Amino acid sequence: MITHPVGSRLVRCPGCGSSCLYSTENPYRPFCSVRCKNNDFGAWASESFSVDAEAGLPDVDADLEPAAARTKPD
Ligand SMILES: [Zn+2]
Repeated sequence: MITHPVGSRLVRCPGCGSSCLYSTENPYRPFCSVRCKNNDFGAWASESFSVDAEAGLPDVDADLEPAAARTKPD
Protein backbone atom coordinates (compact mmCIF):
# COMPACT_ATOMS: atom_id res chain seq x y z
CA MET A 1 0.00 0.00 0.00
CA ILE A 2 1.30 3.39 -0.98
CA THR A 3 1.24 6.12 1.62
CA HIS A 4 2.24 9.75 1.26
CA PRO A 5 3.85 11.98 3.84
CA VAL A 6 1.64 14.52 5.54
CA GLY A 7 1.41 17.72 3.56
CA SER A 8 2.21 16.19 0.21
CA ARG A 9 -0.09 15.22 -2.61
CA LEU A 10 -0.11 14.21 -6.22
CA VAL A 11 -0.75 16.92 -8.74
CA ARG A 12 -0.91 16.98 -12.51
CA CYS A 13 2.31 18.18 -14.06
CA PRO A 14 1.53 21.26 -16.22
CA GLY A 15 4.34 20.21 -18.51
CA CYS A 16 3.53 16.64 -19.45
CA GLY A 17 0.26 15.98 -17.62
CA SER A 18 1.54 13.08 -15.60
CA SER A 19 1.08 12.77 -11.88
CA CYS A 20 3.90 14.12 -9.78
CA LEU A 21 4.51 14.63 -6.10
CA TYR A 22 3.73 18.10 -4.82
CA SER A 23 5.88 18.39 -1.75
CA THR A 24 9.11 19.84 -0.49
CA GLU A 25 10.76 16.69 -1.78
CA ASN A 26 10.04 17.85 -5.30
CA PRO A 27 12.02 21.05 -5.99
CA TYR A 28 10.36 21.35 -9.39
CA ARG A 29 6.76 21.28 -8.12
CA PRO A 30 4.22 21.47 -9.49
CA PHE A 31 6.27 20.01 -12.33
CA CYS A 32 7.52 16.45 -12.32
CA SER A 33 11.04 17.38 -13.41
CA VAL A 34 13.29 20.27 -14.29
CA ARG A 35 12.73 19.43 -17.94
CA CYS A 36 8.99 20.07 -17.70
CA LYS A 37 9.60 23.20 -15.66
CA ASN A 38 11.84 24.64 -18.33
CA ASN A 39 9.51 23.54 -21.08
CA ASP A 40 6.61 25.37 -19.47
CA PHE A 41 8.42 28.68 -19.55
CA GLY A 42 8.86 28.29 -23.27
CA ALA A 43 5.35 27.02 -23.76
CA TRP A 44 3.85 30.16 -22.32
CA ALA A 45 5.33 32.14 -25.18
CA SER A 46 4.59 29.59 -27.85
CA GLU A 47 1.46 28.30 -29.48
CA SER A 48 1.72 24.97 -27.73
CA PHE A 49 0.28 26.41 -24.56
CA SER A 50 -2.59 28.09 -26.37
CA VAL A 51 -4.18 24.69 -26.87
CA ASP A 52 -5.45 24.82 -23.30
CA ALA A 53 -6.05 28.55 -23.13
CA GLU A 54 -7.70 28.84 -26.53
CA ALA A 55 -11.20 28.14 -25.22
CA GLY A 56 -10.96 30.87 -22.61
CA LEU A 57 -9.56 33.58 -24.83
CA PRO A 58 -11.60 35.90 -27.03
CA ASP A 59 -11.02 35.80 -30.73
CA VAL A 60 -8.39 38.44 -31.29
CA ASP A 61 -7.21 37.26 -34.68
CA ALA A 62 -9.09 40.05 -36.42
CA ASP A 63 -7.45 42.65 -34.24
CA LEU A 64 -4.02 41.19 -34.77
CA GLU A 65 -4.36 41.34 -38.53
CA PRO A 66 -2.50 44.38 -39.79
CA ALA A 67 -4.69 46.82 -41.70
CA ALA A 68 -1.98 47.24 -44.27
CA ALA A 69 -2.49 43.65 -45.34
CA ARG A 70 -6.01 44.40 -46.55
CA THR A 71 -5.25 47.56 -48.50
CA LYS A 72 -3.24 47.43 -51.67
CA PRO A 73 -1.30 50.61 -52.36
CA ASP A 74 -1.55 51.31 -56.06
ZN1 LIG B 1 6.14 16.58 -16.39
